[in-house]
Amino acid sequence: MMEIKSYYGGQYRDGGASSFEKRYPATGEVIGQVELATSAMLDEAVAMAQEAQKPWAKRSVQDRGQILIKCAHALREANEDLSRLEVQDVGKVYAEAVSADVPSGPDVLEYMGAAIMTYHGTQHEWPGAIGFTRRIPLGVCAGIGAWNYPVQIALWKSSPALAMGNAFILKPSEMTPLSALKIVEIMEDAGLPKGLLNVLQGDSHLGSAICNHPGIAKVSLTGGVETGKKIIAQSAESLKRVTLELGGKAPLILFDDCDLDKAAATAMDANFYTAGEVCSNATRVFIHRPIAEEILSRMKTMTEAMTVGDPMADDVQMGALISETHLEKVLSYVGQGVAEGATLVTGGDRVHPQGFEQGYYMRPTILSDCTDEMAVVREEIFGPVMSVLIFDDEEEAVARANATHFGLGAGLFTRDLARAHRVADQLEAGNVWINTYNLIPPDMPFGGVKQSGFGRESSHYAFEAYSDVRATYIALDD
Ligand code: NDP
Repeated sequence: MMEIKSYYGGQYRDGGASSFEKRYPATGEVIGQVELATSAMLDEAVAMAQEAQKPWAKRSVQDRGQILIKCAHALREANEDLSRLEVQDVGKVYAEAVSADVPSGPDVLEYMGAAIMTYHGTQHEWPGAIGFTRRIPLGVCAGIGAWNYPVQIALWKSSPALAMGNAFILKPSEMTPLSALKIVEIMEDAGLPKGLLNVLQGDSHLGSAICNHPGIAKVSLTGGVETGKKIIAQSAESLKRVTLELGGKAPLILFDDCDLDKAAATAMDANFYTAGEVCSNATRVFIHRPIAEEILSRMKTMTEAMTVGDPMADDVQMGALISETHLEKVLSYVGQGVAEGATLVTGGDRVHPQGFEQGYYMRPTILSDCTDEMAVVREEIFGPVMSVLIFDDEEEAVARANATHFGLGAGLFTRDLARAHRVADQLEAGNVWINTYNLIPPDMPFGGVKQSGFGRESSHYAFEAYSDVRATYIALDD
């Protein structure tokens, strides 16, 4: 049984107030006890982070950048170890963790290390005066994470903060406490000064204490919309800067001139990858009427060929959901969808794979005959449930795609270049994909509009979330 503690100021810390059980979603077994950090531990971690941040901010951008690039290389070398932890944390399949989810962390860290070396402000001139702007770090920043991509969330939040000269405190989700600790160990071994990156274990109470803490200048959340609203309210007293990566209910529009094979396979990936526990997933698949029957039949065949079970097995395509409670919630959405008139094309039930009977598994699910008013179409389910909707023309597709308070991702498939641009330009989303889905290279920003949040992760835009701009005006004559 693992003892899972907080790590700050360069070492593991005892003194947590109480503990909760960490379960492996694939088996339901308790594999560790997580010690919850107290508010005194938060105070101590903030004080240590403040001390570590001062000399870090004074180092040259070349120094900081090179250290972060070394850390990225060290994390890549530990890719398989980190991927096993990601599986233990989340229950997702190892093949996904090792090939994409875990490497996406070091990729962004490396990008931030390189980008900070070339980052500079602006210069201005007037008669008898000049001016310049500089980006300055905020101090101690904090990240509060969701449970679906713990490695990615830890690094996408901390790397721009560290590159800009801040210290960072991360509170992973209580359900995924493992990998962040390993990340800090690896980065400190690779040369990151101690006290700059810190992990505090805890639940929403700790999250709330972080938002209220006067020594923390900024908080970045990945989580649900309702949590996002609470974070803003809780951060108001200290006027903390806030960025929010929240939920989604993304549309994927398949026009009748698209590559059917590619469109059907992408729609599946955009729903069933990580058992559907992806914020940007395209859970509303709008299909042009002339190709609807054909696409639906292909997706049904492919979905029924998917194997669900042991996340570490090579022949498994979908692992477990995060918890029993979440599984029940997802299944109840399927029931509600059918009760509201949707047709269950495939899936919709819990499965108990041999040897993993107590794990939190369900079959990937497709619902057709959906309408825009159904709860399965309006609300974020965060599980492997695809809703299929039929449309007749472009204008209708765009209007229905945008009829949501979410605005994280959106996608479309067409071979018509003009239509691709025209439609992409009208979709209300922070990230739009054409003839593909869910790809986010480190030099592209990621984030939402509307109630999917604000602020951007990845790319140089992320620097803005972890710095202020100072304008200096210099008079050169009397
Ligand atoms: P939650 O919103 O429940 O929790 C997110 C984090 O916030 C957790 O660490 C949680 O702590 C913490 N938290 C909860 N309440 C508070 C509070 N009042 N104050 C401070 N912190 C708090 O989300 P889930 O973990 O269930 O993750 C799923 C959600 O995350 C989905 O809505 C999904 O769309 C979204 N998400 C968004 C992404 C994006 O980039 N836009 C990416 C991935 C997920 P704890 O749970 O430990 O108690």
